[in-house]
Amino acid sequence: MNIHEYQAKAVLKEFGVPVSRGVAVLDAKDAEAAAKQLGGPLWVVKSQIHAGGRGKGKFKEAEAGDKGGVRLAKSVEEVKTFVNQMLGKTLVTIQTGPTGKQVNRLYIEDGSDIDKEFYLSILVDRSSSRISFVVSTEGGMDIEKVAHDTPEKITTFSVDPATGIMPLHGRAAAQALGLSGDLAKQCEKLVGQLYAAFVAKDMSMLEINPLIITKDQKLKCLDAKISFDSNSLYRHPDVMALRDETEEDAKEIEASKYDLSYIALDGSIGCMVNGAGLAMATMDIIKLYGAEPANFLDVGGGASKEKVTAAFKIITADPKVKGILVNIFGGIMKCDVIAEGVIAAVKEVGLKVPLVVRLEGTNVDLGKKIIRESGLNVIPADDLDDAAQKIVKAVGQAA
Ligand code: GDP
Ligand code: MG
Repeated sequence: MNIHEYQAKAVLKEFGVPVSRGVAVLDAKDAEAAAKQLGGPLWVVKSQIHAGGRGKGKFKEAEAGDKGGVRLAKSVEEVKTFVNQMLGKTLVTIQTGPTGKQVNRLYIEDGSDIDKEFYLSILVDRSSSRISFVVSTEGGMDIEKVAHDTPEKITTFSVDPATGIMPLHGRAAAQALGLSGDLAKQCEKLVGQLYAAFVAKDMSMLEINPLIITKDQKLKCLDAKISFDSNSLYRHPDVMALRDETEEDAKEIEASKYDLSYIALDGSIGCMVNGAGLAMATMDIIKLYGAEPANFLDVGGGASKEKVTAAFKIITADPKVKGILVNIFGGIMKCDVIAEGVIAAVKEVGLKVPLVVRLEGTNVDLGKKIIRESGLNVIPADDLDDAAQKIVKAVGQAA
């Protein structure tokens, strides 16, 4: 789960991390009070969307002006102007894709005088099974580009979970950033604070870009992006409260209500499968026969009829879906439950695209009988290969 920059900074502040003072604004009429509260003489008006690259982003609407999604203001009047220009408009950045994201919140910050911009992130490195730091002197810009063009400017190190964070990690970061004296001390302290926040809140990624040195020689986190491990949210109600559902895929939100593992994709064939391995195999074989899956969907081991019905409705509600492949290997999951769920959903929402059903395993005969007797226009399939060929062909013919 991702959160907004201003929320991320509030979380980090709890751990003592240095960030600028700021006020989040959801309504343009609050802009003046926010700006006056911060006092100036420099303010930053920042679009809050779940995507980076805002500074270099462009608004779709001409009346939003062409100064990007992060703007420096030198007066209260200018803050108000920027807020009016940006709020409610659609910002397109390299991370939003061409459709962009609507800016429904702005963060007004006390502006900093920047001396240097660095990059620092913490993530769970799956290859070493450790929490790792990525540090670079090349901050404020696209870190992927730095990694590609000048990899020697990126330093990474990981933390042994048995010892936890140690002074040597702080020193490694300070050295990578070329810091000495008091700035090195600040860096060592910051590394400890960021690591503590990362572990305590079960983050999966924390990115500070840029981490700056101000003109008065203070380290400060000027931008902050946090992703949390979704599997840990049950033990962090405070983090759950930060969720902004308007930033998420509506189909994925609906699926999460039913505890379905669902990821929306760009293809045309909707998949309903039980078991993550089988779901991956189904997506692979669809690609093998020349089409693309519209989603990953694992209904789980012992899904109820209600869960199957919800899953089917989510798939059919997606206008990109031109055909559906139900691929079930009944173990704990019974084929007749799947059949009943599919039929219940079709009765409610109708079926406008070809549907191929492949059932195997527990109660398979009963499942097939239920589908046969339902009068539904279902294309039966015997195995995975057969099923994939049939749905790809049916979608091809429909197109
Ligand atoms: P991003 O473009 O989405 O990564 O948004 P950032 O929060 O990183 O802001 C983009 C850029 O705006 C930064 O790299 C800075 O150069 C600039 N910026 C942000 N806040 C301030 C500030 O307080 N003072 C100054 N002078 N520049 C800022
Ligand atoms: Mg940034």
